[in-house]
Amino acid sequence: RTVYVNGNYVPENEASVSIFDRAFLFADGVYEVTSVLDGKLIDFHGHIARLERSLKELGINYPVDKDALLEIHRELIRKNDLVEGMIYLQVSRGAAADRDFMFPSADVKPTIVLFTQSKSLVKSPAAERGLKVASFPDQRWRRCDIKTVQLLYSSLVKNEAAKKGADDAWLVLDGKVTEGSSNNAYIVDENNTIITRELSNDILHGITRKAILQCAAELDLKVEERAFSIAEAQKAKEAFITSASSFVYPVIEIDGAKIGDGVPGPIAKRLREIYIEANRAAAI
Ligand code: PMP
Repeated sequence: RTVYVNGNYVPENEASVSIFDRAFLFADGVYEVTSVLDGKLIDFHGHIARLERSLKELGINYPVDKDALLEIHRELIRKNDLVEGMIYLQVSRGAAADRDFMFPSADVKPTIVLFTQSKSLVKSPAAERGLKVASFPDQRWRRCDIKTVQLLYSSLVKNEAAKKGADDAWLVLDGKVTEGSSNNAYIVDENNTIITRELSNDILHGITRKAILQCAAELDLKVEERAFSIAEAQKAKEAFITSASSFVYPVIEIDGAKIGDGVPGPIAKRLREIYIEANRAAAI
């Protein structure tokens, strides 16, 4: 694979960053994952807008040149013959001279890294089967709206979920679901109303979440943006998750309780179809 590091396209085994990079020492960096279908980018502008916001919230001074970033994404797609998969983009505050909790002076340049991952996204066993999820307390820091590379707790609970035979973890704060380990969480009630937690610092403002709520509106489905409990979710007609790399995955079991008939629900399936159709057509 060819990857991108600070202005250069290099083979992945020749790419390097400093051991003093603050992403490495302090998780002082942010990232985006943009999916690729037919060699084109899904919702690129949404991801770049969120990158700018994450950087601003942390005071990382990386001047986002959208055209340049688009060109880097496209060049990596070309160099790696990427047809379907993802592009990972990370910007850290950069490498200081020493390990120091204080931010380095303004002349330290942010580190920017991009790489591609080939993956079948549209044809997906997880989408056909549906996911089993297990709940865990949400013990992440309370700025989950910033997409930082500080993903240890999310990784930990995903592994704990796997130990319990589940595919993913749903996180619970003060008795209500915030989101999945790396996705937004939804339930569908008996009136076919889609319920998902409102935007706040407690969840990542998913780019796919925004698109899915638009798809729901097009299907004339009502949406309620509010928190729900695991007990309410277990009684729901359907449940599902969304993210840039999964699009929509139905959830068929929560903490051992089957959701509906225990098979992917029609609303989740339909939303997945129209999301793929609309975003494939709009890809750049
Ligand atoms: N929540 C969390 C915690 C995530 O890590 C992600 C995926 N990065 C999402 C939600 C979904 O966001 P998006 O739809 O922008 O991929």
